[in-house]
Amino acid sequence: MKKDGEKVSPGDPLALIEEFIGGRNTYIDDSVIRSSVAGVVKVDWKNRIIDVEPIKQPLTIDVGDEILGKIFHISGVFGYVEIELVRKEGKGPWILLRGKYTGVVYPPTRVTDVGSTYHVRDEILARVESTLNRTLHLSIRGLRYGVVRAFCKTCRTELVRGDEPGKLVCPTCRSIETRKVSRLYGNTTIIKTLHKEKVLNTW
Ligand SMILES: [Zn+2]
Repeated sequence: MKKDGEKVSPGDPLALIEEFIGGRNTYIDDSVIRSSVAGVVKVDWKNRIIDVEPIKQPLTIDVGDEILGKIFHISGVFGYVEIELVRKEGKGPWILLRGKYTGVVYPPTRVTDVGSTYHVRDEILARVESTLNRTLHLSIRGLRYGVVRAFCKTCRTELVRGDEPGKLVCPTCRSIETRKVSRLYGNTTIIKTLHKEKVLNTW
């Protein structure tokens, strides 16, 4: 029989039905308790129950998924984004990512000054457009996508939406900055998600 803590694959024999009761993620096949998942064996000797705790598969980020992340570096026009949260196919709950995932974002139109699109430390909502060469290419094209939170260059205060489209205003020093602003800029749900208050799952 398998030992406590041992890794098993689907179909692997765990114990005989005379010895144990099959618990979670097991099935019986010809007097043998087998695992129905890839996981780790848990043996309860007192009650003689054998369970398998499933191992989570690594999360993959695919084309069409939405991400929330922070720009940590800019090189040329490319913004390098630390992805903090993902929403599969742009629907359902946001998933907080424990591992390190990085993506690259591009300005949606040809620009001479990338500073009018995004800055380091900006938080963006983007859509995964391609995974070519195992790089997550992020798009901020469309009204929904773009910067959702930004801070003043001068005094670091959180900027608020200005009167003109694409303009953000510092409530402290009144300076005005330009970005590719998402229509969800300052949206309560997005801000709560960024603060991990609205996140249901952690990976
Ligand atoms: Zn300011």
